[in-house]
Amino acid sequence: MNSDLVGPLNAFLKTGRRIVLVPHKNPDGDAIGSCLGLQRFLEKNNHTTHLISPNDFPEFLKWMPGADSVLNFEKNREEASELIERAELIFTLDFNSLGRIGAMQPVLEKATCPFIMVDHHQSPDTYAAITYSDPEMSSTCEMVFHLIDALGAVDQIDGALASCLYTGILTDTGSFKYSGTTPTTMRVAAELMEHGANHTEIHRHIYDTNRAERLQLLGCALQNLVILKPYRTAYITLTQNDLDQHGFQKGDTEGFVNYALSLKDVVLAAIFIENRDEGIIKISLRSQGEFSVNDMARLHFNGGGHINAAGGRSDESLEATTARFESLLPSYEKQLNR
Ligand code: 5GP
Ligand code: MN
Repeated sequence: MNSDLVGPLNAFLKTGRRIVLVPHKNPDGDAIGSCLGLQRFLEKNNHTTHLISPNDFPEFLKWMPGADSVLNFEKNREEASELIERAELIFTLDFNSLGRIGAMQPVLEKATCPFIMVDHHQSPDTYAAITYSDPEMSSTCEMVFHLIDALGAVDQIDGALASCLYTGILTDTGSFKYSGTTPTTMRVAAELMEHGANHTEIHRHIYDTNRAERLQLLGCALQNLVILKPYRTAYITLTQNDLDQHGFQKGDTEGFVNYALSLKDVVLAAIFIENRDEGIIKISLRSQGEFSVNDMARLHFNGGGHINAAGGRSDESLEATTARFESLLPSYEKQLNR
């Protein structure tokens, strides 16, 4: 963490405050892990905290220490809005723009207290009094570790806190395989193990607690795989009917897009998932090497993310969306075949 930020951060945290922590909408392991980890640290330091998530999060993250007390904004609008209004400090974690928190956006925009952003996405917005932004970081969880370290408080990390931060590092690095994984990431993970994170148990909670229906939904997704060899591209579609027929639950499609990317010679992979309630197609994009899906998502799909992992949405039908995706590929042909 840049030493310029430590003084202001210390000043904000010197005395006990009412603090709200917020992850992005549809929070993943890194968003929830970083919030829960930082929340635990703040509680140890005499702050009164509330973690408010824009919406629900997947079952495979609910074992995490502190997950029980996460307030779901969608289900508790009034209580959550009041807590935000009364907050003296708001941490926003694992996102770079208030456009990423859905219906919570207007409520946070009205808040008058200072914000602190901790995030590893490119091009952060400027709403925060302290912006700890570093796109080179593997995960926001790694950044929370560096933040605690910068405050000289690593000895306060207990097993529960270590497990929260380890989880986000694990999920955002694809189990330590993505290029954002650095020697420092590995050292942080090692320290978290020393402080009580049980890597085997965490891995099992995240990856080996499937319901049979989820595996059958994966089978359906793989049946729907489309391979566009000239563009080194593969994509998967799931209709709302596909989801309904397989007892879809939040988080079930997490990681499906990676099967498309696992094909030999595929450089660009996508999944398009129909969401009838929201009237949108949710899109996840993944790439290998230099091809920036962040740019693609920003330019064409109202989204963003990182160079090799990004997301977005479309208000068109599933067919129109995939047709538009396919129609974009000729303009990327050179980059895809580099
Ligand atoms: P996923 O595809 O797993 O939902 O997300 C991959 C990456 O893209 C994550 O870093 C996530 O925060 C980001 N991302 C996903 N959806 C959106 C979106 O709609 N807008 C923006 N700006 N980023 C997104
Ligand atoms: Mn993240």
